[in-house]
Amino acid sequence: MARKSHWRSSLVALKLATRLDLIISQEGRCAYCSRMADPSRMTVDHVWPKSHGGQPFEDRNLVLACEDCNQKKGDSDPREFVGLSPDDAPIFKLHPELRPN
Ligand SMILES: [Zn+2]
Repeated sequence: MARKSHWRSSLVALKLATRLDLIISQEGRCAYCSRMADPSRMTVDHVWPKSHGGQPFEDRNLVLACEDCNQKKGDSDPREFVGLSPDDAPIFKLHPELRPN
């Protein structure tokens, strides 16, 4: 159906825009390990996984992460995952969802 495919293509465009925003705001670095990686190999990760009450479509819950970190993090608590070491990770400090309380 035409209507359905239109909806799908605008969702793809939205995802691309989110991805671009993240690449720019994180200067192409992974939110967790701060490594620079090929942008095409970066993944968009939910800071707070759905199992921790994270909102899948909320922009502030999204970060750019390298494939390694995304896989290792899985469903874990993001603050536990980065080990609460803001000095080592510039992005960690920048992202409101990852600042220590
Ligand atoms: Zn990483």
